[in-house]
Amino acid sequence: MCGIVGYVGRQDAVSLLLAGLHRLEYRGYDSAGVALVSRSGLRVHKSAGRIQRLEATLPKRCKGNVGIAHTRWATHGEPSDANAHPHLDCSGEIAVVHNGIVENYRELRASLEAAGHAFRSDTDSEVLAHLVEAAYRGDLEQAVREALLAVQGTYGIAVVDGRHPDRIVAARNGSPVVIGIGEREMFVASDVAALVRHTQKIVYLDDREVAAIEASGFRTTTLEDEPTSKSPATVAWGHEAYDRGAHPHFMLKEILEQPDACERTLKGRLDAQFGTAHLGGLNLSARDLLDIRRVKILGCGSAYYAGIAGAHMLETLARIPSDAEAASEFRYRNPVIEKDTLYVAVSQSGETADTLAAVREVRRKGGRVLGIVNTVGSSIARECDGGIYMHAGPEVAVASTKAFTATLLCTALLALHLGRVRDLSAGDGKRLIAALVRIPEQVRTVLQERERIRAVAAKYKDRASAFFIGRTHAYPVALEGAQKLKEISYIHAEAYPASELKHGPLALVSPETPTFVVLPHDDLYEKSLSSIEEVRARRGPVIAITHPGDERLATKVDDVLLVPRTEPVLSSILLTIPLQLLAYEAAVALGRDVDQPRNLAKSVTVE
Ligand code: GLU
Repeated sequence: MCGIVGYVGRQDAVSLLLAGLHRLEYRGYDSAGVALVSRSGLRVHKSAGRIQRLEATLPKRCKGNVGIAHTRWATHGEPSDANAHPHLDCSGEIAVVHNGIVENYRELRASLEAAGHAFRSDTDSEVLAHLVEAAYRGDLEQAVREALLAVQGTYGIAVVDGRHPDRIVAARNGSPVVIGIGEREMFVASDVAALVRHTQKIVYLDDREVAAIEASGFRTTTLEDEPTSKSPATVAWGHEAYDRGAHPHFMLKEILEQPDACERTLKGRLDAQFGTAHLGGLNLSARDLLDIRRVKILGCGSAYYAGIAGAHMLETLARIPSDAEAASEFRYRNPVIEKDTLYVAVSQSGETADTLAAVREVRRKGGRVLGIVNTVGSSIARECDGGIYMHAGPEVAVASTKAFTATLLCTALLALHLGRVRDLSAGDGKRLIAALVRIPEQVRTVLQERERIRAVAAKYKDRASAFFIGRTHAYPVALEGAQKLKEISYIHAEAYPASELKHGPLALVSPETPTFVVLPHDDLYEKSLSSIEEVRARRGPVIAITHPGDERLATKVDDVLLVPRTEPVLSSILLTIPLQLLAYEAAVALGRDVDQPRNLAKSVTVE
């Protein structure tokens, strides 16, 4: 799940590998390590903790032009020096770094131990080094292929061998691996962020594909040794897009980028003349769209919450029954797949393992899936029948912000498009377009409220717990607001439909527990005011996130955060922004590690 970097060329591999690891730090990790090969053999250095700790333990004369490096996010075995990658075989000639989970590692380890292999770690990954050793008869690439045939589970791996100091062998199954092509040098990484500084020319490995990489080039085969052919792609963004610039945190940078990101998501997709949206990648004719009887959106975490908001938009505008489900649940419950249901998979990275598995389950059963994905060329983007790219630009902070708003815009575009082949009139479509066009500027207006939001965050940051409530399309905003606060400030936060308050959570409302009420001006405004009264009657502090215009409100609540008015169906986009900033400011005030919150990782490529 975490980071892999590899280099083959003529430059000093150590500094390139360490710089690459630093660029993957954002993904969250608990240990780091590096393996270098040179004419004098293989050397491995690894340690639990930060990359800086690894750097401090590296000997000065640590040289080599070929190497692999890793940041680990422990799944099997505690974070420790011994469990850090790379892992070695018994001979000390073969070093492996691995992202993912070897599911059958217990059986593999037992049979390798029975055959005399000595293990030094508690990880699932170490079996890979011993499997390659057991299969090795002079050809590393062949040994890796053979070893992987015995493996069940997910992997992105890179392997070096002290006896072949000129190459890296890499492979993937379910965990991304990308090769970066340079001038007589090659890079390998689990994420383009690690190599965009060096090259824009890349090749994504496919599942069950193995690459033998040398400075002069690479070749790829399947696990069964069938050659495969790859055509290089160009990375969509320059390396500046992956830099934090002058901002103290990636998360803040990405929150502030939202006006531009929204503009990019909408660019070229609005057709004011016919009041509809152009979505070139859908691969569905108007007739196909007419046949759709149901829409199901699948995603995990914030992508799932964005899906709930998107389902509301679809049902409201296109009048198609729509809902969202956690992809992590969907994939395991043997779902009934219907021919006339449109499945939509949402993932920022396009590599979320649970969402990818859900996509495969739908397609295996003959269903049709669209992807709403940020990363061009990612696994989900490639495996869906069609899709809508977010164009939000690289999102680096673990806590998603601009990808959330971009997803809402993508679902709004899809809802408009589907609505216009059905009951939505051209007039209504045009009204919606006029509202969409204003969104980037309105987001900018919300961002100007940062001082006010910071004051609210300061006021409530020491509370142990908070509630977030909202009705219908405001409910997913509440879910996302609570999620952001939990993720980065570690304040316990729960979201409920406002209507559910009296069915349980009200028991916990007290002067100590703030309730954040997402309060769009819609048909249910008065009902939400009643929910506020319920909280006030228990002397619970109330913070309303709402639009200007109701003078009475200030007397009923403790704090008000305002966002401009828009079409009610789009209000979730604007109402989310203050809650992102609120979580950010609370986390900063509490001294949290905003970009790398504990226990979390960006792009969850394990189950
Ligand atoms: N499952 C492996 C471990 O626990 C790999 C973890 C990772 O992807 O970083 O070591």
